Amino acid sequence: MSASILRHDWTLDEVRALFALPFNDLIFRAQSVHREHFDPNRVQVSTLLSIKTGACPEDCKYCPQSGHYDTGLDKQKLMEVEKVLQAAAEAKSIGSSRFCMGAAWKHPSDKDFPYVLKMVEGVKALGLETCMTLGRLSQEQAQALARAGLDYYNHNLDTSPEFYGNIITTRTYAERLQTLAYVRDAGMKICSGGILGMGESLDDRAGLLIQLANLPEHPESVPINMLVKVQGTPLADAEDVDPFDFIRTLAVARIMMPKSHVRLSAGREQMNEQMQALAFLAGANSIFYGERLLTTGNPQAERDMKLFQRLGIQPEERHEHDDEVHQAAIEQALIEQRESRLFYNAAAV
Ligand code: SF4
Repeated sequence: MSASILRHDWTLDEVRALFALPFNDLIFRAQSVHREHFDPNRVQVSTLLSIKTGACPEDCKYCPQSGHYDTGLDKQKLMEVEKVLQAAAEAKSIGSSRFCMGAAWKHPSDKDFPYVLKMVEGVKALGLETCMTLGRLSQEQAQALARAGLDYYNHNLDTSPEFYGNIITTRTYAERLQTLAYVRDAGMKICSGGILGMGESLDDRAGLLIQLANLPEHPESVPINMLVKVQGTPLADAEDVDPFDFIRTLAVARIMMPKSHVRLSAGREQMNEQMQALAFLAGANSIFYGERLLTTGNPQAERDMKLFQRLGIQPEERHEHDDEVHQAAIEQALIEQRESRLFYNAAAV
């Protein structure tokens, strides 16, 4: 199907037309594109650990970690390397193939950066894919992270350039694009997406996807988040997103970025099983599994696995370990469900 050619020249009119398709036509098209590039019954599974929580100098209006808002969040300094590695080992044992580490910083400081590099090296040595989100990076920091073995860097664009100023004033859109360019130049993969439900228009959703798809290379991972409304943040009382509009956005992302993993990300706890199944049908093929997103809830691992089983979905494996024995071990671990108290639950305040 010609719709799945990799394109970097999407126009607003074209994307509006995708959003305007009848729902069934849009989902069919997205699922058709999806099947050209992915096993439709595999979903990539990541675990996310907050390695430094709260007191962030940025003012992202959706974020309970911003130091600008009083959300009662339990702040935590940078975790010790050893504890991070313990958590990574635990994540691997319950079936995650990627370990994502997030720090609430404007950018990594010279003091903290060497520890961050040690975390990357250690997690990589465990045989996991590594991902970090640390805020803005300099070119040198991006290169050092790549040398340490960082596979992915997460830096979300959040929304369209036009709407962005309503949500964040302490960091520019251009700075975000610059960080993404440094990450790409350093040879790392990009994880970048946005959030729905912040009061943005349909054109803003289209504008976000156009920014992502029209990058010189599509981000390998595209998280589409549903706003999690946290009391104390300026968006605590934002209007709900129509669930079908959320699914439409996933489907349009799948069509525009056919080879990217589209991640059903924050806000999944608010979705019932039927909506999650619809999200997978629309082309979402990545989730955070079994633990908490940075500071908001995530459905419990057992529920996730039961849903996978009911839908006949299996976790996607890293290629390096793509042998039947390892796959069986992972699936067994997922079924057995080990409770993972090692993970820091930033939402437990
Ligand atoms: S989203 Fe990230 S940069 Fe923005 S306030 Fe939260 S932790 Fe800081």
